[in-house]
Amino acid sequence: MPAARREPQRTCIGCREAVGRRSLVRLVRVAEGGVAVEVPGQRLSGRGAYLHRSRSCWESAFQGATIGKALRMSPKAGDIEGLRRYIETNSGIGVEEV
Ligand SMILES: [Zn+2]
Repeated sequence: MPAARREPQRTCIGCREAVGRRSLVRLVRVAEGGVAVEVPGQRLSGRGAYLHRSRSCWESAFQGATIGKALRMSPKAGDIEGLRRYIETNSGIGVEEV
C-alpha cells in the first residue's frame, strides 16, 4: 500500500470545512443499523461522515438532522445519545475547539 503524501480532504459535516481526513473523526452507518464512531486505525465499511474533534462541530451536526442526511438514514434516539456520550467521554473532543 503506497503511503499517500497528500491526505484526502474530507468535509466536516458540522462546519463544512474541508480538511485532511486524519484531523477528523469518522462516523459510519453500520450494516446492522445505527451509527458507529471509528477509532484511529480502524476502517469500518459503510457510508461515512466526518466531524472535527470539536464539540461545536458535533453540536451543529446534532441540529437539523445533519448526521441523518450525511449518512442517509434516520438515526434513532439511541444513536444520537451514543454520539453524545462519545463526545462527553472522549477527552480529545473539545480541546481543539476554535
Ligand atoms: Zn468542523
